Amino acid sequence: SARALARSEREGAWKEMARQVAHEIKNPLTPMKLSLQFLQRSAQDPSQDIHSLSKRVSDMLIEQIDQLAKIASDFSQFANIHHTKPETFTIEEIIRPLLLLYNTEDGIDVQYQSSPQINTVRADKVQLRRVFTNLIKNALEASENMDQFAVSIKEQRIEKNVLLTVADKGMGITKEAAARIFVPNFTTKTSGTGLGLAICKGIVENAGGQIWFESEAGKGTTFYVSLPLYIDTTAEMDEEEFEDL
Ligand code: ADP
Ligand code: MG
Repeated sequence: SARALARSEREGAWKEMARQVAHEIKNPLTPMKLSLQFLQRSAQDPSQDIHSLSKRVSDMLIEQIDQLAKIASDFSQFANIHHTKPETFTIEEIIRPLLLLYNTEDGIDVQYQSSPQINTVRADKVQLRRVFTNLIKNALEASENMDQFAVSIKEQRIEKNVLLTVADKGMGITKEAAARIFVPNFTTKTSGTGLGLAICKGIVENAGGQIWFESEAGKGTTFYVSLPLYIDTTAEMDEEEFEDL
């Protein structure tokens, strides 16, 4: 049946994903072990500068451990997309803390143009914040070779939705990559997991919204996130009752 086919496709996709994650975890383990063995041997050799060696090896190990932690965290976020705790909150509530977080770093300029209306949505707050963290991170990573890390976020109300745009002046997305950026594990980065946008898409669509982008290679990229506004039906009833009086 179509349902059985869909299920076996889903299981196939999960197996492929697990295989890739296992591969990504195994990859750095060999060089990590080799460099520790090298350090052990060097400790026995009086002609070696053990201090500078251990500094170099530990820097490398810390970097690799951070990368492993990122893989584990991205994978668990991806696996937990459907475990949501819906809350009611405003878009501004999730964007403002991110500005504080990123703008404290030198050379980073994240601008936010808020909307004249207060836009309330109902979604998992932690997850929705993650959507914008992932989009901002990607925007910053795409701007790596530019003079400035500039990201502008704009919030607008459009009919019964709130539209958020996250724009950068980074390297842009090539036509070949454009078709695949939302596919889990697709990355053009040496230390990327390729899960960021797949996570974003899952979270946004779970919340009843949509995510898409426009990009021009060499000029920059804009991501769009549209979310349905939360309509408080009890408040509306109150208003009607008030009008009746
Ligand atoms: P990762 O960041 O780990 O590579 P993502 O799913 O977040 O994984 O992104 C997938 C790919 O989409 C990136 O490797 C990059 O090629 C492309 N991409 C995403 N956002 C941008 C952006 N703002 N500018 C240019 N390329 C982008
Ligand atoms: Mg990313």
